[in-house]
Amino acid sequence: MGKLSAEQLRDRVRGQVVTPDDEGYDQARTVHNAMIDKKPAVVVHCANAGDVMAAVDFARENGIDLAVRGGGHSVPGFGTCDGGVVADLSAMRGVRVDPVRRTARAEGGATWGDFNAATHAFGLATTGGIISTTGVGGLTLGGGIGYLARGLGLSCDNLVSADVVTADGRLLVASAQENEDLFWALRGGGGNFGAVTSFEFRLSPVKDVYGGPILFEIDSAATVLRGFRDLIADAPEQLGGFPAFQIAPPLPFIPQDRHGEPFILIVACWSGPVEEGEKALRAFHEFAPVVAEHVGPMPYPALNSAFDGLVPPGLQHYWKANFVTELSDAAIDAHTRHGPLVPAVNSTVHIYPINGACHRVGPDATAFAYRDASFATVIAGMWPDPADNEANTSWVRDYYAATAPHSEEGGYVNFMADDDQSRVKANYKGNYDRLVAAKRAYDPDNLFHLNQNILP
Ligand code: FAD
Repeated sequence: MGKLSAEQLRDRVRGQVVTPDDEGYDQARTVHNAMIDKKPAVVVHCANAGDVMAAVDFARENGIDLAVRGGGHSVPGFGTCDGGVVADLSAMRGVRVDPVRRTARAEGGATWGDFNAATHAFGLATTGGIISTTGVGGLTLGGGIGYLARGLGLSCDNLVSADVVTADGRLLVASAQENEDLFWALRGGGGNFGAVTSFEFRLSPVKDVYGGPILFEIDSAATVLRGFRDLIADAPEQLGGFPAFQIAPPLPFIPQDRHGEPFILIVACWSGPVEEGEKALRAFHEFAPVVAEHVGPMPYPALNSAFDGLVPPGLQHYWKANFVTELSDAAIDAHTRHGPLVPAVNSTVHIYPINGACHRVGPDATAFAYRDASFATVIAGMWPDPADNEANTSWVRDYYAATAPHSEEGGYVNFMADDDQSRVKANYKGNYDRLVAAKRAYDPDNLFHLNQNILP
């Protein structure tokens, strides 16, 4: 190893430093996507911001790769590396709620499960992801799409400030008042600008929601997609959720003889008054006959963890993504040809509406540029057996090829694969040059390059 040894790093940090000779190394190098098999030289289980600073200094001074890991959900495996140092923030997951100011401060390794549990106690929430085990860190830095986005905006739109360890090892506060260019870049620019040790969010009153999955026959896919598109264009903003293609898992609310068949779903979430939920979801039921559903009132964290069981750690992942400004009939036609071929029960396609409050933020107000997109689509291939890699990646690629001509050039950075680096510029449209300027200011040597990378 270079100038600093792992022993010197151990002396400097509070958390555990794991090297290939240590017990627990294999666990420490593992990320959510089992296709990623990388062997870092050092994994630092950071206990505090000082440890993160030490890990950043260690990578910079030794001239080795640096991976920053929050929830570890990056499909391209950006949370680990070969031969470098991993700053693993997963032990830093405290969440402190200020119910009077309606804010919450989450440490850089918190998951949405950690966050929602803490804020729910006060009847408060902000936009987070669909799955509770996803990291607040990576999801927010890329934008953040979820059930509450139509009403509350993207996760990054609710960010008030962040504590950031930059490439030179300093800890900076980024907010509307301090280091504004860094704050701008963090909101959509991904992990390009530093390691965020804590995120401060604005909260809104959301406690219980009315929602869950509604399954329709796969033959109704075009009707359901057109119905959802037309309804959601000007539906009340408390109405969230998304259409999805999904194989029925063996759950008791689905007729047993239909388990294993593909369906078109609407996963609904009404975050207005719970007693109005049934009425709010009624229009969905008029799209087509409902085969099965599991909707009702529930705590918001329950909906946020309802599908965790379908995406355990250790699956193979390959994803592709696009934005559409308009979900055209031609795009729907491509979905109805490829969606029904979904090859595994863990795999899915989600078509997230990102209108409403997401559109009220200007395209250059944050780094997240696609404020005119009405939907963000993810084709999420997830399957257990590596023997099925070819079949599953082909499904994702063919599906993507069919929808791409009817989509925008860019896609949501958090849903994209590692073979999508050439699309990074398109993802940021008119914001790209300003992102490059921020990168030059805060990370001129591209220490933080394991991400959808903005070249300085
Ligand atoms: P990591 O792998 O830890 O990190 C991902 C990237 O973010 C890396 O480049 C990393 O360096 C950087 N990063 C993470 N934490 C920090 C930090 N504290 N400081 C600086 N950089 C950091 N996205 C949505 O918008 N909505 C969803 O509903 C959604 N659902 C998902 C469900 C699953 C099962 C999976 C696998 C992904 C989902 N995603 C969703 C995509 C998700 O937003 C990205 O995978 C995101 O990068 C995950 O963040 P993480 O912290 O868990 O991942």
